[in-house]
Amino acid sequence: MKTISILAITMFFLRSFSAYGQMCGSYDYQQAEFNNNPSLKSSFNSIEQFINQRQQVAIMSRGEETVIKIPVVVHILYHTQDEKISDAQVQNQIDILNACFRRRNADSVNTPLRFKSVAADCGIEFQLATSDSRSRSTTGIIRKYTPIEKWKMDDKMKFSSSMGDDAWDPSSYLNIWICRLDKLAGYASFPGGEMNKDGLAIDFAALGTVGATSGYGMGKTAVHELGHWLGLKHLWGDEYCGDDGVADTPKQAGYTIGCPNNIRITCGNSPNGDMYMNYMDFTNDACTNMFTIGQKMRMKALFEPGGSRFSLLSSKGLTTPLIFEIPLQENDPKWLKPQLFPNPTSTTLTLDLTYDARWVGSTLQITNLTGLSMMQQKITSKVQQINVQNFPSGVYILAAKREDGLSIKLQFVKL
Ligand SMILES: [Zn+2]
Repeated sequence: MKTISILAITMFFLRSFSAYGQMCGSYDYQQAEFNNNPSLKSSFNSIEQFINQRQQVAIMSRGEETVIKIPVVVHILYHTQDEKISDAQVQNQIDILNACFRRRNADSVNTPLRFKSVAADCGIEFQLATSDSRSRSTTGIIRKYTPIEKWKMDDKMKFSSSMGDDAWDPSSYLNIWICRLDKLAGYASFPGGEMNKDGLAIDFAALGTVGATSGYGMGKTAVHELGHWLGLKHLWGDEYCGDDGVADTPKQAGYTIGCPNNIRITCGNSPNGDMYMNYMDFTNDACTNMFTIGQKMRMKALFEPGGSRFSLLSSKGLTTPLIFEIPLQENDPKWLKPQLFPNPTSTTLTLDLTYDARWVGSTLQITNLTGLSMMQQKITSKVQQINVQNFPSGVYILAAKREDGLSIKLQFVKL
């Protein structure tokens, strides 16, 4: 019987999950990090021990609670113009985070009666940073063009050297990279992971309530991933009827997809059944609406002295900046260059603009050294072939200019 039900769950998964292939990569990511760096495993285990000790303390001292505010910096890595999302779209996601973590979300009324008594206001809020690490004014939002069309779960988006964007000091800021992920809605680093990789990566389509292309278009992916970033596990403990380290979430067999509304008994969790409306399941965004008190205590334990998120409490990220001039953003990173080859040539030139898709649609012009125009041509693809066979031998200039003011000028020799 057991085998059949697992098979049924798996087949259901394969059918209905095709929008993403994988909703959350955090568990696989964590296992890969442990393989790459075995010492992370023991640091993770000691954090787990810390959480277990401190969440008891936190439960006992419940009452005089202060709301924790976490400064956020969002790195938008756009490849196409429509990925250059607005401040309003980012703020929309931040608002959803706050609604869900403070249990002020309108759909909290959908939490079933049988679980209402354990549903929690987690007392954690998120706010775009107002001050950078040098006390300069910031919007907390960075936009950077990248030649990378799709990113994998290998952290390359977290480094400028691999055409992403470097993290801001993770001891003071929560870093969120918004980029086009390959068949993945999002993934989070875990407490105790490598600091320069700390934070969340979220796919554009799973961000906020704008641009929804799947059942994960209501901004709950970031809520789920932040749960991981704050030490939460999936409800099923990433194994059949596994343990998530939280007392008030029932054991359940595995993940949920779609939007069920029946009582589903697994792992002997009668009479209440699975808590598939919890943010730490894979249920569609429209049907998740709660964290529990136990999950809250795990998350809050990390902010106790000695906890891996404790340093955020003394961050200057939300203070009034001392310098009000917002630094200019590096929209076009220095490693980006057009290529023109072969040079010299006798017949055809290739202009390779794969570093920046925004060139497509502009016009290029070739002139000789006296300024006489030899050819005009529309750039129709990122790799453009240019026939110069009929040009007299000599030196020529290829130039192009874009509406946003950027220009290129390249010299070549016709044999
Ligand atoms: Zn997850």
